[in-house]
Amino acid sequence: MADPINSEELLKLVQEKQITAIQRIEDRAVKAATEKRFKAIDDAIGSATSNWVKAFGSMSAEGTGSPLIEMIRSALGASNSALKGLEASTISALSEAVGVAVTTAQAQGSAFVEGASGKAAARRVDVPAVSLSEERAAVKAAVADGLKESKALLKKSVVERLGLRGILGGLRRARNALGRAKSTIANSVNENVTKTMRATATANKADFEVWVAERDACVNCLKYAGQIVKKGEDWTGGQSWDPNQVDKKAKGVRPPLHPHCRCRPVPWNPAWAREGEVSLPEAISREAERSVARGFSLASESNASRVRALKELLSGSPNFPKTVLERARRDLRNGEFARGRAVP
Ligand SMILES: [Zn+2]
Repeated sequence: MADPINSEELLKLVQEKQITAIQRIEDRAVKAATEKRFKAIDDAIGSATSNWVKAFGSMSAEGTGSPLIEMIRSALGASNSALKGLEASTISALSEAVGVAVTTAQAQGSAFVEGASGKAAARRVDVPAVSLSEERAAVKAAVADGLKESKALLKKSVVERLGLRGILGGLRRARNALGRAKSTIANSVNENVTKTMRATATANKADFEVWVAERDACVNCLKYAGQIVKKGEDWTGGQSWDPNQVDKKAKGVRPPLHPHCRCRPVPWNPAWAREGEVSLPEAISREAERSVARGFSLASESNASRVRALKELLSGSPNFPKTVLERARRDLRNGEFARGRAVP
């Protein structure tokens, strides 16, 4: 018999411990499959520029003759070797990572259910079999595109016309392919975790799922935070706290909502809510609103978007303590978050 834990603690468990643990597994796999390759291509990008200046005088100078041929050859070599065997190393890193992620997610699901329900979690969870065939195809396509695109740029006639930009462009196409492999790894780990969570919901007779977002999630993900759907169904697509990003025609969605999204659905059963206490979905949406009010976000998200989200939130008269409300209104007037946007 487990003890139920309160909604805030439960949310912390998911956000701080569980999501972070999965993120570590994902990071490890990304590192194993791509770190050296990224470094090699970044080194090549760096040395291409300095070699160009050395050979031709300046970055904007035209390249000619045998030094140009040599530079093209070395860029092609760097691009080929960065992508060579990428499919195999991605799949090998992923097989290990997904296995660990599914086992971890099973343990996380049980801990979550016990915390939420106060009862022992189901022992048997029918976790769907893992297949990496889509991932393999995605990385294969990324490699093929990367090689084709970089080859198309790394040609004498093209580099004579584009100069150093042609060389760098060619190398960057190879780099993009590495980026695609990285996203494939991240998505695959997270999708398998999500599937495991859904199986956990089934095993524990939880007929609903609730969306959990990170504290520094984007304004779109924060809109979904705390929303409930019937198990396996989609959430209404195109939602956002930022009115400029709302898309009424969007199709239904499930997490991950975008690359690097670490949102996850967790099982939910309304019977788990306790009389007189804040329920988990309420705690989640409350926290998301605080996140919007506070401007918590990654640096990659624009300030303008966070400010529009804040305006939208305040127009709905959220249930905030007076001090929070005052600060949020002041930030809105000033068009920036006085205490910065980073999550402490
Ligand atoms: Zn997200």
